[in-house]
Amino acid sequence: MDFSEGELFKNTIKILESAASLVNCDPNVLERLKRPKRSIIVSVPVRMDDYTVKVFTGYRVQHSSTLGPFKGGFRYHQDVTLSEVAALATLMTFKCSLLNLPLGGGKGGVRVDPTLLSRTEKQNLTRRFTSELGHSIGPSVDIPAPDMGTDPQTMAWIMDTYSQEVGYSQPGVVTGKPVEIGGSLGRAGATGLGVVFTTEKALATQKQQISGTSIVFQGFGNVGQHGALYAHQRGAKVLAVSDVSGGIFDPKGLNIPEVIKYVSENKVVKGFANVEHISNEQLLTLKCDVLAPCAMENVITAENASQIQAKFVIEGANGPCTNDASKILHERGVMVVPDILANGGGVIVSYFEWVQGLQHYFWTEDEVNAKMKLIITGAFDKVWELQQEKKVDMRTAAMGQAVRRLERAMLLRGLYPR
Ligand code: GLU
Repeated sequence: MDFSEGELFKNTIKILESAASLVNCDPNVLERLKRPKRSIIVSVPVRMDDYTVKVFTGYRVQHSSTLGPFKGGFRYHQDVTLSEVAALATLMTFKCSLLNLPLGGGKGGVRVDPTLLSRTEKQNLTRRFTSELGHSIGPSVDIPAPDMGTDPQTMAWIMDTYSQEVGYSQPGVVTGKPVEIGGSLGRAGATGLGVVFTTEKALATQKQQISGTSIVFQGFGNVGQHGALYAHQRGAKVLAVSDVSGGIFDPKGLNIPEVIKYVSENKVVKGFANVEHISNEQLLTLKCDVLAPCAMENVITAENASQIQAKFVIEGANGPCTNDASKILHERGVMVVPDILANGGGVIVSYFEWVQGLQHYFWTEDEVNAKMKLIITGAFDKVWELQQEKKVDMRTAAMGQAVRRLERAMLLRGLYPR
């Protein structure tokens, strides 16, 4: 499949085009933003536990480095394609631009089901993938981070492999590392905390508070678990959460610390006692104030958008609402806080981790969280302002603000050679 053929890529380009026309973007700049700068495809041979060798396909798409080194996660999932990674890399460029970070956009992935790999196989895969990418990644070139199917341990293996190959310790090659080897306090929960900060801002536009608000989380990985926990701690009623095994629902609100404990022991939410067990589809259409899709892309579509009963949709995942769905929701008066804003807490704290590492000077968790809050709430205000001025949806406004900064930077840098 060509990089431009997937649904998420096509949707991303469509929204980019509407945003560009909203802010009168230079057509030459728009043409450049529509294509990734570089796409790398590698074969990743892995020694399996039974001593056979399996070969997986790995990708790194580097969309733009106009604002700084490429930045974005590595995803391990059985459905990864070049086009999906290209779309996610493109979204990273706009996310970093909107959040005013000195970073560009990239994304990588391996087409593999990580739940079928042993720890040794996952380590072998990670080390060989890192080695195959060689000097295409690096602290001032391209800095990967965790995404779906990868975690701080994966980042530690990348950091170690890269460091072994260059001959000295290079913690700046990845973010989302364990704190013991140069990770930042607050990074693990950052995306979930950012989801809660943007939820509070969205609610505040309607003079509402998070305390007492009913929230539903689709996806109970890193983002969903932290988001649900921070919302619960602020007095929100988390009615339901779900993962690949299905959803659990309690109209009185779930005891989130207990659910997290259960998942750490049993891997999935299925089987949690004294709740109603529902499907992922049922969960999306529950009556609630806020719905936070924190799993995969394309889960809210033209088919189910009219049944969503939430008043706010906060995109913890990348690309969970298709363009058609966003349009339907907007027309129905549902506010969709787009991914490049709502899940930006992760890359903001990744940026802090990178800065702390370069300075060899580490901050307290309170400092990290307070600085992240300033950036993400400031970005929300910028998006809200443009949305109010132009009377568009939040996604077009967010992309519009992101395009404005990129356009200025690209025009200042000019085209080489001219
Ligand atoms: N994978 C995360 C995202 O989609 C984090 C990227 C990063 O920290 O570089 O934003």
